[in-house]
Amino acid sequence: MSSNKPSNVNKRTIENILQSITSVKRQVPKSGFVLLLILYILATVTLNRVTHSGGEIMLGSYPFALRSAAGIFSSLANLCVILLVVLYRKVGFITGLVIIIGQIPMMLFQIIMLHNYDAIPGVFTNGLTIIAIVIININHNRVDRFQKEVLEQAVTDRLTGLPNRFAGREYFAGLVKVREKFVYVATDINNFKSINDTMGYETGNKVLKEIANRWRDLADNGNLGTFNLVAHISGDEFGFSIQEYNSEEDVLRTINRFREELERRVTIDDCDYYVNASFGYAEFPTDAEDLETLISGASLALHDAKRRGILGDPVRYTKELVQNEKSLETERKIRSALTDDTIFFHLQPQYDINHKLRGFEALARMKDADGNYIPPMEFIPVAERSGLVDQIDMAVFKRAAEFLQNAGKTAEPDFTISVNISVKHLLKNSFIDDVKGILETYDVAAEHIEIEITESIMIDSVERALGRIEEVRKLGIMVAIDDFGTGYSSLSYLNSFPANLLKIDKSFIDVMNQAESNKKYVASIISIGHVLGLEVISEGVESEDQLETLKEIGCDYIQGFIWGRPVPPEEAAKLIAQQEEA
Ligand code: C2E
Ligand code: MG
Ligand code: MG
Repeated sequence: MSSNKPSNVNKRTIENILQSITSVKRQVPKSGFVLLLILYILATVTLNRVTHSGGEIMLGSYPFALRSAAGIFSSLANLCVILLVVLYRKVGFITGLVIIIGQIPMMLFQIIMLHNYDAIPGVFTNGLTIIAIVIININHNRVDRFQKEVLEQAVTDRLTGLPNRFAGREYFAGLVKVREKFVYVATDINNFKSINDTMGYETGNKVLKEIANRWRDLADNGNLGTFNLVAHISGDEFGFSIQEYNSEEDVLRTINRFREELERRVTIDDCDYYVNASFGYAEFPTDAEDLETLISGASLALHDAKRRGILGDPVRYTKELVQNEKSLETERKIRSALTDDTIFFHLQPQYDINHKLRGFEALARMKDADGNYIPPMEFIPVAERSGLVDQIDMAVFKRAAEFLQNAGKTAEPDFTISVNISVKHLLKNSFIDDVKGILETYDVAAEHIEIEITESIMIDSVERALGRIEEVRKLGIMVAIDDFGTGYSSLSYLNSFPANLLKIDKSFIDVMNQAESNKKYVASIISIGHVLGLEVISEGVESEDQLETLKEIGCDYIQGFIWGRPVPPEEAAKLIAQQEEA
């Protein structure tokens, strides 16, 4: 492939670039050409010598006349000419033709003027060689033409005549290879489907052709101040490069010129159409170090531009877009899980300090289409932001109530199931009715239910949360403050908080045994909890020494991998049965 660097193209039009992409370089060394010429000259000189020589050499006991070797050197000379044509195409053909035709007058002179009739076969041989090299040359031209046509078809988009996706990539890859700074712009016609749907594909195609023609002219006329190559990617998607700009303003000016060209009225079969497009772009090498990342970065930016509305500004790729896109993807997954009712739950046991089962915490679980778990730390924050968390809470609550209805019957009277409730959900007016509805539907006693509310979020709206929690408590439901210690709650608010249980966050348990002060800190949380009339549970207990310390400092309950990981409800039911037997 020839270099794609545009400075190698004389007039840098799209046509020229396509040609440079399709031109086939044949790698034959130039030294071979000179070598063949020297060999040709040597063979011809020797041929003359032996033709006019009357000498003999002895091959063994046979005398061999040097004149008889003339055929060998004549064939060698012709072979050199034929190889010149085969290997060096046009240049070889012209050189071969000149030297062979150039010899004919000398031969005719020998025959006519000097009556040297030995030269007659030479004229024939040269004539035949000329015919051979002409035939080879005609054949070469036919093959070249065919090859060029095939290559052109391979890089040109049939509908628009623009470089296709392959040619575009080839060109952009060339820029990446020579590490030239450039911008790749991904663009997509807005609502193009509606033109196709209402006016038919033929009209849709004409609109695309018109857009392609306008953009090709714009890129080729050289008035933009930047250099651009437009490619038709597929359907209503185009991509173009911007080179030779000085600033981001230059880039935006060029993109806006493309946009203006597009937004001018398009008239097809006497009908007027107004089209617009969204644009997303990324710069090499600032935003991406390779072509794949560059192109996907620009299309991510394009998606974002589309989301912002059809007349929005072009969007440049940023790393945050990846995060957004991931969140949106997770949101889509949550929505479909909620529609398909596939949110499920696992139950993690909670024990008192003597290893007697207190109950379980219900934890939401979700899988993607491939059956892989999506961690709650990934989907719960997204659900919070997109207002879907209360639906998740309720889905888990319902399943937990159903579990309680079946397995809970055999359990102790103080058996508890804890469900996590987001503060946003708690503050909704419908919350109390939602909870009552579930208790009635599954016929479970409120005393078996505990709701966990995360301290860190709760303190943002303490007053309203307090009121709502009092209502919850009136129903007979227990309340736990989750992740305690992470939210800097003040003692005064804790004092007035109608909770039953304090859950010490795992992060404190993790470091508890690393320093005496850490241990004292956890001990004082437990003491304060007790003073305020709350029971205390430690979360994320993993090791024996943590367990020992917690026993020592008077923790009431334990939840953690040391005594039980979150398990499916069937296994939780078995655990209840085992406890009852024990
Ligand atoms: P959380 O409510 O603090 O739940 C405890 C988390 O700690 C659970 O993670 C649990 O699996 C994990 N854990 C418990 N013991 C250990 C241990 O010994 N070692 C380690 N490494 N981890 C332990 P999970 O299930 O990933 O849940 C994460 C968070 O997602 C929960 O933290 C809770 O805030 C939220 N969440 C889960 N289900 C729901 C739900 O239904 N609704 C709402 N609003 N939030 C939920
Ligand atoms: Mg919790
Ligand atoms: Mg927690």
